[in-house]
Amino acid sequence: MSETAPATIPHWIDGSTVRGGAGVLPVFNPSLGRIVRELKRAGRSEVAAAVASAERAFPGWSRTTPLKRARILFRYREILAANAERLAALIAEEHGKTRADARAEVARGIEVIEFACGAPHLLKGEFSADAGGGVDNFGMREPLGVVAGVTPFNFPVMVPLWMFPLALAAGNTFVLKPSERDPSAALLLAQLLTDAGAPPGVLNVIQGDRLAVEALIEHPRIAAVSLVGSTPVAREVYLRATRTGKRVQALGGAKNHLVVMPDADLEAAAQALIGAAYGSAGERCMAVSVAVAVGDEVAERLIELMTRRISRLRIGRSDEEGVEMGPLVTDAHRTRVREYIECGVAEAARLAVDGRSHPCVGLPGFFLGPSLFDHVRPHMRIYREEIFGPVLGLVRVASYRDAIDLINAHALANGAALFTQSGATAREFIADAAVGMVGVNVPVPVPMAFHSFGGWRASLHGDHHMYGMEGLRFYTHLKTVSQSWPRSAPTEPAFAMPAPE
Ligand code: NAD
Repeated sequence: MSETAPATIPHWIDGSTVRGGAGVLPVFNPSLGRIVRELKRAGRSEVAAAVASAERAFPGWSRTTPLKRARILFRYREILAANAERLAALIAEEHGKTRADARAEVARGIEVIEFACGAPHLLKGEFSADAGGGVDNFGMREPLGVVAGVTPFNFPVMVPLWMFPLALAAGNTFVLKPSERDPSAALLLAQLLTDAGAPPGVLNVIQGDRLAVEALIEHPRIAAVSLVGSTPVAREVYLRATRTGKRVQALGGAKNHLVVMPDADLEAAAQALIGAAYGSAGERCMAVSVAVAVGDEVAERLIELMTRRISRLRIGRSDEEGVEMGPLVTDAHRTRVREYIECGVAEAARLAVDGRSHPCVGLPGFFLGPSLFDHVRPHMRIYREEIFGPVLGLVRVASYRDAIDLINAHALANGAALFTQSGATAREFIADAAVGMVGVNVPVPVPMAFHSFGGWRASLHGDHHMYGMEGLRFYTHLKTVSQSWPRSAPTEPAFAMPAPE
């Protein structure tokens, strides 16, 4: 008996589903280790069709008043809230994260739409009456045109929502290329935007991988590219797209440190470390992958507390109730994470908990248990490189200053957190930590939608963080107007620069 072929996930171009592309990519349910869908890889012609549709939609959409655009986003917010469970189910199925985590992802994405609904206020600009000699000055923000978004597998709903609601609120039209590993939710996002009243072409989705991204970043009608992904990809896309004059924000990988001071509540710090390291199987750009213990006593106690809690971690399929950690996204990724664990052992870090021997590894999905390394040192690959799996390394340092030096010397600089009961140390940490996002007794300091998200150094290529006012600036040109209505014409030309007194 032959099995039915998996359904093909289409593109969304000009307000309807489109099939096309060359070569097939599998989409797995990582909890079961089975292919559930597939997609055809978009190439130049699919990308050209999507960009052409967005270009046709741009004049009408950019001239739609900010208030009307915001009202569509308002409806969209309501429709997404009503469909949150559908979206969460798709995320959990194709990504493998728990249903509770998937629901939270949808909620954090909706937050950005709520911010974008303020478009009329956000875009209203600045005005100086009588700035000088009968001249008024005003500044306004205008859309860029057709912009593109390229998103990673680990937040298939939230990261696209970091991008297109604000881009659209500002009057741009958008082409989204979601991750090929869990692309169904992005398609549903686009379909629901049409239900909210967005005209065809305002948001297009093309399914595929690097081929599609290359076609997008080379396309002459794409004005700007937002990318979230690994650092090598972020760097490459940044360099290639800026070379052709595009505006780019390319967020990359991370190695987030959580420093535990001797005065911290160690039970709270251990709980925070467990959740931040193993939530979503460590596949979060804001996951904590390095615990920094100030002093050996802190280190010993943290290892003891964490080992105890890890042994009770509930691992299972994303659709099981009460599960705390699901599988990794693909078998290939699991192999890569396993190789890092082997590497850490070879580098002589002490493997306090070995996730490779966890009973979950025998399940049919892409499961790997949580691993905990002690005595990790800065020269080791498991310290320097992003593993992006359920592997936490503990580094022992002698002082607060050593912890800061460690954080500030790392190439990746997304976030860093401090656990302490001293306000004075916390204030110093906020000033000393050279990273994009800082947490004080908050392990995963992801800013709300009315602030902005981004790292420093190799964690972000470009000048703008994502969403919040930074996002709005990224998706708009600033135009500044000087206006004068003199009652009589000047009698002589002015040869000197006007310099009002
Ligand atoms: P990835 O870099 O493999 O892929 C990201 C996107 O780029 C995907 O859409 C993919 O199709 C595309 N892509 C892959 N290779 C490409 C290439 N050579 N040229 C052009 N495009 C290419 O990342 P991933 O595995 O999907 O996601 C995990 C990574 O994303 C981690 O490194 C994680 O830290 C990072 N991430 C960062 C943030 C952040 O805000 N800084 C947020 C989420 C994820």
